[in-house]
Amino acid sequence: MTELSATGGRDVHTVRFPAATPPATVDVLVVGAGPVGLAAAVEPTARGVRAAVVDRARTATLVRAGAMGHTPRAVEHLRRWGLLQRVRDAWTYPPQWHRGTRLVTSLAGHELVPVPAPSFTDRATATRHSSGEALRRPQTVFQRVFLDHLREQGVSVSGGWELTELREDEREVDAEVVDVGSGEPRTIRAALRMAEHGAFPEGLGADEELRRFHSFYGHPDEIVAALGQEKVLPVATDLITQFNPAVPDHDAAVRALELIATEVAPALGRQPAHRAEPASAGA
Ligand SMILES: Cc1cc2nc3c(=O)[nH]c(=O)nc-3n(C[C@H](O)[C@H](O)[C@H](O)COP(=O)(O)OP(=O)(O)OC[C@H]3O[C@@H](n4cnc5c(N)ncnc54)[C@H](O)[C@@H]3O)c2cc1C
Repeated sequence: MTELSATGGRDVHTVRFPAATPPATVDVLVVGAGPVGLAAAVEPTARGVRAAVVDRARTATLVRAGAMGHTPRAVEHLRRWGLLQRVRDAWTYPPQWHRGTRLVTSLAGHELVPVPAPSFTDRATATRHSSGEALRRPQTVFQRVFLDHLREQGVSVSGGWELTELREDEREVDAEVVDVGSGEPRTIRAALRMAEHGAFPEGLGADEELRRFHSFYGHPDEIVAALGQEKVLPVATDLITQFNPAVPDHDAAVRALELIATEVAPALGRQPAHRAEPASAGA
């Protein structure tokens, strides 16, 4: 019997996901290595938060049609991540590839209305709310660039692993994944999914709320130890601390500032940004 190709023999762009085993623990687990999932891993990675990605598919291909044109807002994000030039340098469809869109009642049915294809270079149709310009690149190009970037950043991306179950307690989530080839199960422990429930759902204790506000109290040694656990600290250029000025009297407030300046900040290797001088009147 003749083997029929899904693409009619045409060459299509296929991106292979890495065959890595997912890590046992991670701060942010992203399920799905489509352009959205990979972008969702790029963002926390840029902020020093450890992310990992799993996808049940082993490859992404243009056989499963996807994005072709990207809005100026999407282009702004690519620039922010430092990935715009890499996406621009990647291949794109030949100019004759997109011949317009037709709205029909079925593949063999009646045409409803003609939908002319907007030009990607026509400034008249470009948005007036962004400095970016719409970009035309296949979805797999985004995935290739994101995958290369994540590999360079040491982020684990595992193709062939399907999420089957999520279990959570107040602080963490256990994601059950299965190797789609061998059926081997694996548990990935990830930090709390704040986006799903909101950062401050009802019933949180005061300690947990303070932790989520990145507020610490106690002896300076305890505050130094707690701040030392903050994941963004090693990559933060500045450390801005403040105390709660509502409760203590003037002397206690000055003492709190003094402790931050003389004990907490130096213990974390931080120096004052400049000499503190009282602002002159009228400045
Ligand atoms: C014909 C067509 C044309 C389009 N044109 C455009 C366009 O021009 N511009 C544009 O911006 N958008 C366009 N889109 C839309 C765009 O393709 C989608 O918005 C985009 O693919 C969504 O990305 P995603 O990462 O959310 O999802 P997907 O790309 O669908 O990725 C989801 C991934 O999750 C994985 N997954 C799902 N469940 C599990 C699980 N349980 N465990 C592990 N992995 C799992 C899947 O295998 C998949 O790889 C088009 C879509 C189509 C179909």
